[in-house]
Amino acid sequence: MSEILVLVEQADGEVKKVTLELLTLARTLGTPSAVWAGPGFSADAKAKLAEYGAEKVYVAGSADVADYVVAPKAELLAQLVGSASPSAVLVAATAEGKEVAGRLAVKTDSGVITDAVGVGEGLVADQSIFGGGVNVHSRVTKGTPIIAVRPNSTAPAPAPAAGAEEEVSVALSDAAKASKIVERVKQEKGARPELTEAAIVVSGGRGVGSAENFSVIENLADVLGAAVGASRAATDAGWYPHQFQVGQTGKTVSPQLYIAAGISGAIQHRAGMQTAKTIVAINKDPEAPIFELADFGVVGDLHQVVPQLTEEVGKRK
Ligand SMILES: Cc1cc2nc3c(=O)[nH]c(=O)nc-3n(C[C@H](O)[C@H](O)[C@H](O)COP(=O)(O)OP(=O)(O)OC[C@H]3O[C@@H](n4cnc5c(N)ncnc54)[C@H](O)[C@@H]3O)c2cc1C
Repeated sequence: MSEILVLVEQADGEVKKVTLELLTLARTLGTPSAVWAGPGFSADAKAKLAEYGAEKVYVAGSADVADYVVAPKAELLAQLVGSASPSAVLVAATAEGKEVAGRLAVKTDSGVITDAVGVGEGLVADQSIFGGGVNVHSRVTKGTPIIAVRPNSTAPAPAPAAGAEEEVSVALSDAAKASKIVERVKQEKGARPELTEAAIVVSGGRGVGSAENFSVIENLADVLGAAVGASRAATDAGWYPHQFQVGQTGKTVSPQLYIAAGISGAIQHRAGMQTAKTIVAINKDPEAPIFELADFGVVGDLHQVVPQLTEEVGKRK
């Protein structure tokens, strides 16, 4: 079967869940090979990648690959595209992944698809475009297909493979070394998962009513192991930080479960969440547009519904 390259996303040497999703997806398209860029590769990382189906793991462990922002990763992948002639390259549709994808497309004179929520036979990718108003199926027709896939698009499933390690040395161009990372500051990480990667997101909108009331949303998120999101009405009101805004001018999320509480479902909000697998809406207005989108809707006051839901979920733990 043809080789599919998967660029590994990792934090402190730990393979991120989105990579396991991409390996799972790659197995349906060909034979996955993971590509590790930078130092920190370990036996644990190798075992994880093999567990999820990587037949091969290309390791470019040089510090240079990680120290010059994204350009070296694109050069590394371009080198591998040249030497291994894979039938596709999959990256995570994260900010970094999408930039790598764009650069790689230019370097290899290939077509690129970003924000795919699935890839099927013939490397046909599914995308939700125009603010989520249209679903399209597209295929790259030039060069090596490069596809950036949104986190949570595929449920990760193990299928052990060889995970044969192959060291790669990459000769970086001067252009790739134009910007060097001089300092890394670790962001204080809360206990909640990262918004764009979370399998469950609980979001609150204007209906939450105040910054203090957001604890109702946070409590449900915590009992579900979810990330917290917010509508722009809530972030503009200063009730929740802007970095948690979901929508056209905020983050795009594609979780397994999205719970929208006190959110009307404006098109700009939908643009950031409507590829969620299951959408639950809690709104006191039965005519709220969010119900057109929801798989499950609760008409009621969120201040009553959400605490009860939190309590019930808590009992099951
Ligand atoms: C260029 C542009 C970009 C934008 N980008 C974004 C974006 O990225 N993200 C985004 O979210 N918005 C964005 N917006 C704003 C968007 O148009 C809406 O104004 C916004 O999404 C509304 O937020 P909301 O649903 O929380 O508030 P509202 O539309 O005011 O809805 C509040 C909802 O809460 C319900 N409610 C009230 N009280 C309760 C209660 N106690 N219990 C249950 N339900 C209750 C109401 O029935 C109502 O449906 C953008 C707008 C523009 C013009």
